[in-house]
Amino acid sequence: MKTHHGSNKIKRNLLTCAFNCSFMTPEERIKILTQELQEHNYNYYVLDNPTISDYEFDMKLKELQALEEKYPQLADANSPTRRVGGDVTKNFPTIQHTYRMYSLVNSYSREELVEWIERVEKSVDENLEYVCELKFDGASISLKYINGQLAEGVTRGDGYQGDDITTNVRTIRSIPLKLRGDAPEEMYVRGEIILPLEGFQQINAEREELGLEPFMNPRNTASGSLKMQDSAEVAKRPLQAFMYAVQGKDLPFESQWEMLAFCRNAGFKVPDSAKLCKTQKEIFDFIEHWDKGRLNLPYEIDGIVIKVNPFYQQNELGYTAKAPRWAIAYKFKAEQAQTKLNEITYQVGRTGAVTPVANLEPVLLAGTTVKRASLHNADIIAQLDVRIGDTVMVEKGGEIIPKIVDVNLDLRPKDAEKVEFIKHCPECNTALVRHEGESAYYCPNEDGCPPQIKGRIEHFISRKAMDMDSIGAETIAQFYEAGLVNKISDLYDLRQEDLLPLERLGEKSVQNILEGIEASKQNPFHKVLYGLGIRYVGETVAKKLVRAFPNIHLLMQATEEELESVDAIGGRIANSVTEYFAKEEHREMIAKLEKEGLQFEAEFEENISEVLNGETFLFTGKLSEFTREEAKEMVEKNGGKIVSSVTKNLKNLVVGENAGSKLKKANELGTVKILTEKEFLALIK
Ligand code: AMP
Ligand code: ZN
Repeated sequence: MKTHHGSNKIKRNLLTCAFNCSFMTPEERIKILTQELQEHNYNYYVLDNPTISDYEFDMKLKELQALEEKYPQLADANSPTRRVGGDVTKNFPTIQHTYRMYSLVNSYSREELVEWIERVEKSVDENLEYVCELKFDGASISLKYINGQLAEGVTRGDGYQGDDITTNVRTIRSIPLKLRGDAPEEMYVRGEIILPLEGFQQINAEREELGLEPFMNPRNTASGSLKMQDSAEVAKRPLQAFMYAVQGKDLPFESQWEMLAFCRNAGFKVPDSAKLCKTQKEIFDFIEHWDKGRLNLPYEIDGIVIKVNPFYQQNELGYTAKAPRWAIAYKFKAEQAQTKLNEITYQVGRTGAVTPVANLEPVLLAGTTVKRASLHNADIIAQLDVRIGDTVMVEKGGEIIPKIVDVNLDLRPKDAEKVEFIKHCPECNTALVRHEGESAYYCPNEDGCPPQIKGRIEHFISRKAMDMDSIGAETIAQFYEAGLVNKISDLYDLRQEDLLPLERLGEKSVQNILEGIEASKQNPFHKVLYGLGIRYVGETVAKKLVRAFPNIHLLMQATEEELESVDAIGGRIANSVTEYFAKEEHREMIAKLEKEGLQFEAEFEENISEVLNGETFLFTGKLSEFTREEAKEMVEKNGGKIVSSVTKNLKNLVVGENAGSKLKKANELGTVKILTEKEFLALIK
């Protein structure tokens, strides 16, 4: 998932700041880095227009982190380093809203909307102006800024008071921690936190890989994310903030339209879809445009909001007990279609989880023909009380597969019987089990259930694991059906003569397959561990485990308690790991894989030499023999250290072409050894 700067296409500028900082106090340097990072963050996340590379951004961030660690008294609560999170909140304190957070009156038809417009026109008999905005489908938020600094982030709660989620809010990159331009002493900015569809699908793909249940929709996931205890986890979710209102005293604008511009100038993300409308026709054109247009948006909206523009007119209209009279929401009908449920089939995944799938009479929905819909699990089926032969309502939300949301009881056939969730695996007939606290049923026959066996091998060869791209799911199925492969380790017994007789496999593909299998032996331990497909051991967990237990034997011997002492490894993961290794078949398979030459030991990079031990280096000017990154690596691999400025701590300055102020300063100091690139290379050779 893209957690921060994702584009590498930008031309790499020189690290200009790093060249001119030698005369600065840490305080000044922190200030400059903070400003630069804020600016780059804004360019990237608000304007979608990055101006430096990821690498440069990371270097600046690292420099700032190092400075803040060294001088904690200078670290600011709104420093760009807070974007990555880290603080954990156990209970979110309640905060009273200074200005109440109202809800909106909803309307669902043209007639209702016309009624509202007429009512407004009766009360305000001047030229009316409206702002039409998208109604973002997420979680609403109120952000308090004191003298331009983010001070609080609070959920809407009941409108009078909400939860203090400031630490989590700081990780959302499109929320400015410090406002741009002049800011009032105190103000409250309101808007919506949303999770774009791509991020939602990515999160669910990852959850599925870990054998976790997917989240239902982007909105719930966004509001759930805001209430996670570990802000570092929130930082990993690609949440976005769209703002549309500001409250406070003596604010420098007098209409909704001006307020949006103010938000934009202050550094918030305000989509430019909002439109100033003067006539009913313009409002309805806007609605019609977005009723279709929303299908192409990268995030979900559930309607549009129409607001009277000038504040003096808003004030004349006032509020009801719950909502402003000067605004109304027009809700889109979710893309729904009615069709018949023909059959429920059951799919068994790699982890053995059984998912019910509705097979439908094909129906057109949001531009595509839908034949299948997800029914998630037994609880959902029971809740809907859906029966075979029922006429059901399918809806397309943020998910790739549509879902059944309702049953039309009027059209239910008389003999329709309640759906009994299957008791036995549709693939291997083993009795299903249900784990405590989980809604999914599982087939426990791990070693004999075909989709589980094939799924595990598919997982093992997948890109993030062994990355054998010469083998696909179909080939795995072929191997399995031919009785060649039953478990991961069988792949390493495959011979040319086993594969050549198989259909569709020519000599060339067989060779590619065998080469791919051979090459996989070079993959590092953490990839092998991930590839084993231990429940809850995803890519990140695998890396963490490998760092703590650098070879398979240490890991296999680890107790649950020892496992849990590793950062981010909880009881559920620890239990799953020990259970996996307790099985004799697994231990045998690992022994076999080890014998085949797979990597079961972490390779921590060792230094090539210690010749630069105690030496410090700085590189300046235009380097021609190697890049700055290579230089850094060479220094560190030979026991030396890189420093970022010319001070008494600097022992060696390596100068390329056009060296400037650093060279001058080093000469002035007189204690720094000046080297050319060649002389540096000679040192380590
Ligand atoms: P509802 O949740 O249906 O009562 O609708 C009210 C909510 O819509 C507000 O609390 C906001 O969180 C949300 N909303 C989304 N987009 C907008 C917008 N452009 N203007 C005002 N409210 C919005
Ligand atoms: Zn089964």
